[in-house]
Amino acid sequence: MIFNFSAGPAMLPAPVLKKAQHELLNWQGLGFSVMEISHRDPIYVKMTEEAEQDLRDLMQIPDNYSVLFMHGGGRGQFSAVPLNIATPDATVDYLNSGIWSGYGIREAKKYVQVVNEVACVETRAEGKTIPPVSEWSLSPNASYLHYCPNETVDGIALHEVPDVSVPVVADMSSSILSEPIDVSRFGIIYAGAQKNIGPSGLSVVIIRNDLLERTAQQHVCTVMNYKIQAAEKSMYNTPNTFAWYLAAEVFKWLKAEGGLDAMAVHNKRKSDLLYECVDNSSFYHNTIAPQNRSRMNIPFQLTNPELDAEFLRRAEREGLMSLKGHRFVGGMRASMYNAMPYAGAQALVDFMTRFANEHK
Ligand code: PMP
Repeated sequence: MIFNFSAGPAMLPAPVLKKAQHELLNWQGLGFSVMEISHRDPIYVKMTEEAEQDLRDLMQIPDNYSVLFMHGGGRGQFSAVPLNIATPDATVDYLNSGIWSGYGIREAKKYVQVVNEVACVETRAEGKTIPPVSEWSLSPNASYLHYCPNETVDGIALHEVPDVSVPVVADMSSSILSEPIDVSRFGIIYAGAQKNIGPSGLSVVIIRNDLLERTAQQHVCTVMNYKIQAAEKSMYNTPNTFAWYLAAEVFKWLKAEGGLDAMAVHNKRKSDLLYECVDNSSFYHNTIAPQNRSRMNIPFQLTNPELDAEFLRRAEREGLMSLKGHRFVGGMRASMYNAMPYAGAQALVDFMTRFANEHK
């Protein structure tokens, strides 16, 4: 049995892949695949409408929000957000909670005069911490506040939505669909697809309709223009049709699995199991304050890093794949999105316990 702990592109639900395999040569009785039909064909358009409705049902997206299926992944949105909803002379607020929000900040600086970092991660007695919102230096006139609720590389998460007076923009690339959220608290939610939605190259944007009316910067490229993409139902140009189809299948799978309430329970069980293993052993450690620990991406270090290579070699031999930490932080990282079964977390913890005992 293989368990794939990749941070992204990440494992997809096996039933979705099996269905896609089955439909590859004959989708909906056409005699060819979904990749070989016009995106404007009524059969394809119907599929996209159902995908949007399923996502709306899963996330309980209010009617005054538009859902866009765009190009350019998560990073495409790092530029699309400021270009669409801030003017060049604006001030925008960003929480710097790790590597991905740092990249977002760097990109925003190209398009907006003042990018104010409201807070960054601090090392406190309980570990790496995101300071509480009451300690943030918020700008009174920001066009929006941007944050990343789950930092994929750092394994740091902010589990509550910041309560601020400006539109909140969230990069949910690695946490979307992992638990229920109140969409009405956000101005924009966006996510690259390759963790909890489907294959890479697709991004989902959920935007409150009044923000579509903000003056976009004139030079925003048309494929990245939210207002035009909303008016064109995300078909201003040819979308990534296969990724959209797979996303639609993942949404159906999620509904059949019990929706986001069920995912929240599932994800908490898996991550609790792994954190417990790390915390109860002097062989492993995790440096993040308990309230900011991610339930999707769990970094952990071996107290003796000289054993890292041996740990990874043995893990792979046992079918536990892609556990190497990101090149910027080293150590290990286990990513466990919706598609990772509990048995995967269990197999990892069993292996870690055995490995620690053998190297005492
Ligand atoms: N934001 C977050 C939180 C991510 O984890 C990633 C990718 N791992 C990105 C943005 C960038 O996504 P992409 O590679 O699709 O541009």
